[in-house]
Amino acid sequence: MSLRAPLIDGFGRRINYVRLSVTDRCDLRCTYCMSERQTFLPRTSLLSFEEMERLSLFLIDRGVERLRITGGEPLVRKGVLDFLLRLGEQVHNGRLKELTLTTNGTLLAGAVPTLVAAGIGRINVSLDSLDPETYRRITRGGDLTQVLDGIALAQAAGIRIKLNVVVLAEDNRRDIPAIVQFAHARGMDVSLIETMPLGDEIAGREDQFVSVTDVLADLRSFWHVDGVNDATGGPARYYRVAETGGRLGLITPLSHNFCDTCNRVRITCTGQLYMCLGQDDHVDLRAALRDDPTTTALDTALDGALAAKPRAHEFFIAGAGLERPARVHAPARTMSLTGG
Ligand code: SAM
Ligand code: SF4
Repeated sequence: MSLRAPLIDGFGRRINYVRLSVTDRCDLRCTYCMSERQTFLPRTSLLSFEEMERLSLFLIDRGVERLRITGGEPLVRKGVLDFLLRLGEQVHNGRLKELTLTTNGTLLAGAVPTLVAAGIGRINVSLDSLDPETYRRITRGGDLTQVLDGIALAQAAGIRIKLNVVVLAEDNRRDIPAIVQFAHARGMDVSLIETMPLGDEIAGREDQFVSVTDVLADLRSFWHVDGVNDATGGPARYYRVAETGGRLGLITPLSHNFCDTCNRVRITCTGQLYMCLGQDDHVDLRAALRDDPTTTALDTALDGALAAKPRAHEFFIAGAGLERPARVHAPARTMSLTGG
């Protein structure tokens, strides 16, 4: 239970969910996320794990109940497993309701015992194809076997898995039914994600955009897919596939349908707090952490950030056939920096 003022934004939304990116680095170079020769931040600009732990404890004190660790690829940063174990203490003492992780799965197999010890009961794994060649092409070099082995070990250890699939018109649209079948046969949920206009230098993304509504129509040509009411405060709409019995989330970041119930903020690996995935406004928590050993500067920074959390985001991809928002806006940073 939190004893300090909870985080309430200017629209009365209670912020109880934080995504914390621990690195901008990654062992893959997914075409929609990074450029082939991605440059990364100097390590000195990253928050140390000690700083991240201090920040996390502070956020828990202010009523954050769910924490998702992401990246970049969170499992590539040295020391991350110890960090997860320390956060896990907050799960075990009941102050944190849930600790989760988003990973590309390449290093998952070796991390499973730590995840279990840290009380992580559920993770998201990104998997855009079950065909080794397509997977290698989309990720620019990834080895599908490593990911499948990690998934199998995590499941065997009792960790629930949701697969995240970014749908790309040319690369994997036709693979979606096989991925859904694979996931549902193993008790995993699947989220199909539209490409988001994040990052300036990722070529070809607009050409690969496919609306998840069109993917839903593909699936409905041979399956019964009905909407279910599973509100999470996030950007997904949920469906149930009658033939597989499994759950399917469609994530449409380009629509504004989820903003009103948005309960989350994101913190980059350099300690920048973004109130909204679709906006550039942010607040520097690193300065607050480094300049003031007490919580005063952090409190001031966070309260200022919350007052400024926008009501809704504005995304736009030219030619995507979407209604143009009043202000056209595509943030310059990539998902690997902000955290997915
Ligand atoms: N490396 C981890 C992974 O891939 O799961 C965690 C970080 S990754 C940035 C988080 C999620 O963001 C992944 O599911 C990825 O597919 C998604 N993502 C990255 N760039 C995206 C984009 N431009 N549009 C939509 N989703 C994107
Ligand atoms: Fe790495 Fe995840 Fe981005 Fe792929 S989506 S390049 S795995 S950070």
